[in-house]
Amino acid sequence: MTGSAAQPSLFGIDSAPQPTDRLFFAVLPSADAAQTIADLAKGLQSELGLKGRPLQTDRFHITLHHLGDYVGLRPDIVAAAMEAAARVQMESFDVCFETAASFKGLPDRKPFVLRGGDGLRDLTALQQSLGAAMKRTILGSWVQPKFVPHVTLLYDDQLVDERAVEPVSWEANEFVLIHSLLGQTRHIVLGRWALNPQRTSTVMSITPADEQAMRIALDQAQNAMLVGEVPIGAVVMRAGQVIATGYNRPVTEHDPTAHAEIVALRHAATLLGNYRLPECEIYVTLEPCAMCAMALMHARFKRVVFGAADPKGGAAGSVVDLFGHTQLNHHTKVLGGVLGQECGTVLSDFFAQRRELYRQRRSGPATESSPFDDTPAIPTGEVLEIEPPPPSP
Ligand SMILES: [Zn+2]
Repeated sequence: MTGSAAQPSLFGIDSAPQPTDRLFFAVLPSADAAQTIADLAKGLQSELGLKGRPLQTDRFHITLHHLGDYVGLRPDIVAAAMEAAARVQMESFDVCFETAASFKGLPDRKPFVLRGGDGLRDLTALQQSLGAAMKRTILGSWVQPKFVPHVTLLYDDQLVDERAVEPVSWEANEFVLIHSLLGQTRHIVLGRWALNPQRTSTVMSITPADEQAMRIALDQAQNAMLVGEVPIGAVVMRAGQVIATGYNRPVTEHDPTAHAEIVALRHAATLLGNYRLPECEIYVTLEPCAMCAMALMHARFKRVVFGAADPKGGAAGSVVDLFGHTQLNHHTKVLGGVLGQECGTVLSDFFAQRRELYRQRRSGPATESSPFDDTPAIPTGEVLEIEPPPPSP
């Protein structure tokens, strides 16, 4: 036995980081239905003497397709999911669950779930339609051919036989993309798609016009890069016309609020002579932060379209979803993942270059001949950094 034979356990086990982030498509119950499910779960738990506690009311869901577990949010997977979802066109429909039973799971953690029959036919059609759209993206291998629609109520060590329950039904009028923070029992909705062909096609699909506008925002990101700022760009559009552009420049302007979106929206508001811009749409290469999200809502933007998701600071679903708060927002629609991969690459290339520069500076006199010598120091005022995606499996 050679020394190398003993190595795999060291590298194989120690080097694989634990996944922290799960992505999946789901249909959520209405608020009323979620409460009914919670009451039903509690009733069944005491009736059957189960020890497992029912899930939190806001976490009941029907999984349509899993998209994998990752370390960090994968912008390429999110972008592909957005692309697939935008292609699904379907009317809203009713779902009805009428039995409860256990699945064989782990010995002490068998899922006790709601099941149904004919009342889930349209739901199955949605699952298949979404699967077909996923096959046109890099997500093809995640399509689940065998769909067993269910709502998990709780986990328990008992195996419960199928039994009829008081039927639970609701009208499904949207499906969602969920980012689940593993071990933190947190679900973040990254995208919502209406089950209504008209709305789906006008609000949530990525159109060639969206991509064209995002290219203008990407050009602006290059401008930021040229002055040594974190490369994020934005453009404000109205009826297909460019109204204003902006790029990230907080360090050069000595202005912590000078994010690309703020720069572009100030120009647009000045130009249009109005502090509200209800006919305007903004395209930005990175998911807006909380400051920009609120500014865009104050300005009553019709729509916010972003490229890459920002798992460290995004306020359109990644860290918080300010646009999804009905108490804060009634005006602004959101679409993410437009040219998401390209937008993300501009940022990761920038940070890779900056790390290389620091590395060369740190290595002392050897840097005398460094090609970076004449480059001004890249400002350190920004803390934002997107982690490079882990290598593909
Ligand atoms: Zn911002």
